[in-house]
Amino acid sequence: MRIGRFSLKGQPFYGLIEGERIKVLRGFPWPKIELTGEEIPLSQARLLAPCKPTKIIALGLNYRDHARELKMPLPEEPLLFLKPPSAVIGPEEKIILPPQSKRVDYEAELAIVIGKKAKNVSIETALDYVLGYTCFNDVTARDLQQKDGQWTRAKGFDTFAPIGPWIETELDPGDLKVEAFLNGERRQSSSTKELVFSVPEIISYVSHIMTLFPGDVIATGTPPGIGPLQPGDLIEVRIKGIGDLKNYVSK
Ligand code: MG
Repeated sequence: MRIGRFSLKGQPFYGLIEGERIKVLRGFPWPKIELTGEEIPLSQARLLAPCKPTKIIALGLNYRDHARELKMPLPEEPLLFLKPPSAVIGPEEKIILPPQSKRVDYEAELAIVIGKKAKNVSIETALDYVLGYTCFNDVTARDLQQKDGQWTRAKGFDTFAPIGPWIETELDPGDLKVEAFLNGERRQSSSTKELVFSVPEIISYVSHIMTLFPGDVIATGTPPGIGPLQPGDLIEVRIKGIGDLKNYVSK
């Protein structure tokens, strides 16, 4: 299933995307997998960010090929940081470059969307807590990340968490192609086969630290090829089996 969050005439709702149609789902702010019977053409509704997380947990240095590129040793445990929910934007919304930074980078990532409350879950059962997967751009003010030593400011500006375009529920996260395209040119390309910590390992690890709630997002790290954004750019995160998250860049 492909679950999207939409706005039509100012009203937000969830729906299943089937071809060019949206089949409206019951339930808000969290969807139930029950149809209302109402159908809307996809072209008539605006896609929103597919969930409203209570928190976004992200991983640093979680691709073997990226660690090789940076000549960094592989982490022994997942390296976690948080991005604030206030940073979330949806498909085709603008990433705003803040005046405090001279270097803002894109980072294409696979995001896990949690489907039910998860606390102290095992690696073996971790995937039972997943609603699905979507694309994520872990936008980062690289100069401030280096200057501050910790990452709250660099990762936390408004608009620095583009997510979408929808949640794909039937997907094996073990071998997905993750790519970034800057103004149509491919800049990042890898596979989740390169992940240091797998999706089930990450969910289990995080759930032993903080309770995960429906709609929470875990961004699984970025492959090699990150680079800077300029005003006027179009940045796209593409994941095979999910789709294409497009955002424009502005001052
Ligand atoms: Mg990242």
